[in-house]
Amino acid sequence: NRVILLDKRPIGTPTLNDFKFIEEEKPTAKNGEILLKALFVSVDPYLRGRMSDAKSYVPPFELHKPISSGMIAEVIASENADFKVGSHVSGLLEWKEFQVSTGKGLNKVDGTKVGLSAYLGILGMTGLTAYLGLTEIGKPKEGETLVVSGAAGAVGSVVGQIGKVLGCRVVGLAGTDEKVEMLKKDFGYDEVINYKTTKDISKAIKNAAPNGVDVYFDNVGGEISDAVLANINNFARVPVCGAISLYNDTEIAKGPRLQPIIVKNSVLMQGFIVSNYAAKFPEAIQKMATWLKDGKLAHQETIVEGFDQIPQAFLDLFEGKNKGKMIVKI
Ligand code: NDP
Repeated sequence: NRVILLDKRPIGTPTLNDFKFIEEEKPTAKNGEILLKALFVSVDPYLRGRMSDAKSYVPPFELHKPISSGMIAEVIASENADFKVGSHVSGLLEWKEFQVSTGKGLNKVDGTKVGLSAYLGILGMTGLTAYLGLTEIGKPKEGETLVVSGAAGAVGSVVGQIGKVLGCRVVGLAGTDEKVEMLKKDFGYDEVINYKTTKDISKAIKNAAPNGVDVYFDNVGGEISDAVLANINNFARVPVCGAISLYNDTEIAKGPRLQPIIVKNSVLMQGFIVSNYAAKFPEAIQKMATWLKDGKLAHQETIVEGFDQIPQAFLDLFEGKNKGKMIVKI
């Protein structure tokens, strides 16, 4: 039974050396327990924060202990009447091929209508983040302009589509021409800027959003966000979802002072953690599932195969190797 431990706390950009593979005996389910076989593992940018020991909204991973993340698993043995052998669950589980659980905190998932991996993306944490961050904080109105950074990722690709459903002009920022094409063709983005090949991002946003920016859904922070905020409108809303461009920094970067822009334009900028909105998850999932069924939402996944590829897939998030949700299939 292979297991992946956090071996070192990464300094700056994480490397494969920060992880360690070990073998342990395959566990057996005892009274009240179930034996789970990992099928799909979610790798997410927020795991970077848990690899450091700085205080955050979730406790850090312990050194030399298994890493955990969102996972879909199959119940392969059950000593718990609530879980049938052959059924599937999602939840926060450890990076192990096999593990036992009491079932506490796990959700049963049904892979017959959508692929099981969808519960790690569009019908899981990243879909909820997109929907709740946009609707609860961004509050887009028909005809407004929504700008999304990290637009081709798991959260961003969903935010833009919801923006279109709600009648916005949607502008995205992404890191490759292939992603730019995908966002326009498959996800209905009106304009997309390749931030890596564009010299003056602020000017490009001005061109793509001639009426200014009413909602900025920020997944990346840093210079991209500075450029978007230079084009912000009066009474704009800025859900601050993530700041991946800064997660590996070892010093706090200095940017332009934003307070005058925020004051002058009466901008509402609010950070959030998706779990703040747990009470709204059922309603949000229902809405997303309906849009998915009606063909109003598409979803994209980058599926990497093999348990041994989990750490590399995580590192690849910081290189922009994924389109849509990055998932490892075991
Ligand atoms: P993504 O699927 O978007 O993957 C990360 C993407 O970020 C990459 O594909 C890459 O795309 C982009 N990226 C990587 N490095 C940089 C950089 N230096 N500058 C700009 N873009 C970069 O991940 P998620 O959708 O899971 O997460 C997106 C953001 O949302 C993250 O910041 C994450 O922490 C946050 N998040 C927050 C949650 C909350 O509750 N607040 C919950 C879930 C996610 P590209 O090729 O375009 O560079």
